Amino acid sequence: MSHVFGPVPSRRLGRSLGVDVVPFKTCTYDCIYCQLGRTTCKTVERKEWVPLAEVLADVRAKLSSKPDYITLSGSGEPTLFARLGELIDGIKRLTNVPVALLTNGSLLWQADVRESIRELDLLIPSLDASDQETFERVNGPHEAISFDRMIDGLLAARQACRGQYWLEVFLLAGLTDGPASVRKLAEHAARIRPDRIQLNTVTRPPADRSATGIARDRLIELAEAFDPTAEVIADYRHVHAQAPFSASREEILDLLRRRPCSIDGIARGLGLHPNEVVKHIDELQLANLVETTWTSGVCYYKPSDKSR
Ligand code: SF4
Repeated sequence: MSHVFGPVPSRRLGRSLGVDVVPFKTCTYDCIYCQLGRTTCKTVERKEWVPLAEVLADVRAKLSSKPDYITLSGSGEPTLFARLGELIDGIKRLTNVPVALLTNGSLLWQADVRESIRELDLLIPSLDASDQETFERVNGPHEAISFDRMIDGLLAARQACRGQYWLEVFLLAGLTDGPASVRKLAEHAARIRPDRIQLNTVTRPPADRSATGIARDRLIELAEAFDPTAEVIADYRHVHAQAPFSASREEILDLLRRRPCSIDGIARGLGLHPNEVVKHIDELQLANLVETTWTSGVCYYKPSDKSR
């Protein structure tokens, strides 16, 4: 399967060409809100998880799609890819399209990781918790990563990255949306001094059903607690009008008519990237063509009565 997917429509990045540099689902965290499901390989080992030459060849082959951004993201944590700096350099030799990195920020305390992201145009790290206890509850980090280390990394990366720095703060109802928690998150964000602060919350089925989203009006209120005032980027509508996805959507429906599947199951069954499947499922849910069902804590999708 290609290491590149899309371009997929992104509210923040326009038409975003996704580049995936770790196998599904290889991550330093096991977030309860993850829309890709549970982490199956929790690790801090940095290595060439996929061949760099293959990734660059896949990027080159997709440049004719004229993306607005080339976004390193995908099936887990992209800073686990040991040749990240060479990948960014290689992409920059191929094209002038800006390069963004979506990262959980957990490895930015490592100097070699910071060195590898120096030439990025846009760094988007996450901050979801304000102390060790909540960090463990929300992010389920690998034991090598403490809250203090993670925060040190977010601070140090601010100096290291020459491009824009947008901090994404993911809030969960009943867990991190209380006044004390939001105040502490805002204090951490103020120390980091990002170019932008962006608030997100659960709008898709999470890895753990205990992760609950916050209503849009409330999130807008909470945005005022941050300085600069945060932007709300949560995708409440799931509308991706320009997505050229109709063929894959039909294939997904056909598959689900045979058996309910998870995001990973659909991706494996149809040879699609999990992030693309998430976008297709958004469309199908918006059209009331699929519904969710939970079994043993895993979210499965099945056709609604309307699509049978
Ligand atoms: S949300 Fe991101 S950081 Fe958290 S488990 Fe999923 S892929 Fe990893």
